[in-house]
Amino acid sequence: MATPYPRTRQQNGPNARTAPRTVLVTGAGSGIGRATAHAFADEGAHVVAVGRREAPLVETAGHDPSRISPLVADITAADGPETVVRTALDRHGRLDVLVNNAGLVNGRSLRTYTRATVDPLLATNLLAPVLLTQAALPALEDSRGVIVNVTTSVGQRGWPGNSLYAAGKAALEVLTRSWAVELAPLGIRVAAVAPGAIDTPIGDHAGLAPEQQAAIRAWQLDHTPLGRIGRPEEVAWAIARLASPRASFITGVILPVDGGAVVA
Ligand code: NAP
Repeated sequence: MATPYPRTRQQNGPNARTAPRTVLVTGAGSGIGRATAHAFADEGAHVVAVGRREAPLVETAGHDPSRISPLVADITAADGPETVVRTALDRHGRLDVLVNNAGLVNGRSLRTYTRATVDPLLATNLLAPVLLTQAALPALEDSRGVIVNVTTSVGQRGWPGNSLYAAGKAALEVLTRSWAVELAPLGIRVAAVAPGAIDTPIGDHAGLAPEQQAAIRAWQLDHTPLGRIGRPEEVAWAIARLASPRASFITGVILPVDGGAVVA
């Protein structure tokens, strides 16, 4: 089958073991994605930081502009996934890690969902990771790379009042397990982290009023045995560990980073 992208050179060349890895992080302008971009840059990787707004991406890259390059793109656009992967390859000639992190919440009761509210939610949280992963496959096959999906601890339990968000993330977990098996013969590993309550601007991005966010936080704290909200860096650490070459025998795993929420 013809591949739409040029094969990477470095992987099979003399620098295969020493060349810095290239990591694509979606939703890298804030929260967990920003912390993940920083974590990989600190390890010496080249990070392509994807988001729709330029200013937050530039701020993310300010951590280490020699390692992190912003890429303004909408992963739900028709040509978004292909553009993102091709740009990463144009910049660095290889792709080793894809972190499907960009996501939206859109809290609603079942009665109030409409096509107009469901479509962007599933396009961002479910379809875009599918199409991005598909677009990245030839490059990841060359690098024997890693895919890390970002799901949520409520995907394993259900979230009344936000059921489509939970359902999309649960589907991403099923995809993680399925792809781990499907892509293993290609040398590609697939894993996910399932964050609990993490201190990020996701509620602001959803347009939630401060009192709504406070109510959600109170509920989350009540359901988190460690009794606090997590930090984006704590999730980023787990993503980087799952993507590490030293995690070479780990695939198909969903790792909760949730202060114990899923087992409580
Ligand atoms: P966040 O700060 O809102 O980050 C999400 C990022 O995704 C934003 O920077 C946004 O930037 C980007 N994005 C959204 N739509 C996009 C699109 N179509 N194309 C490209 N980029 C897009 O939220 P976060 O909390 O860090 O969330 C990261 C992931 O963790 C999400 O998948 C979320 O579901 C998951 N998660 C978060 C929590 C939590 O408590 N925070 C808990 C469980 C799971 P632009 O608007 O500039 O595009």
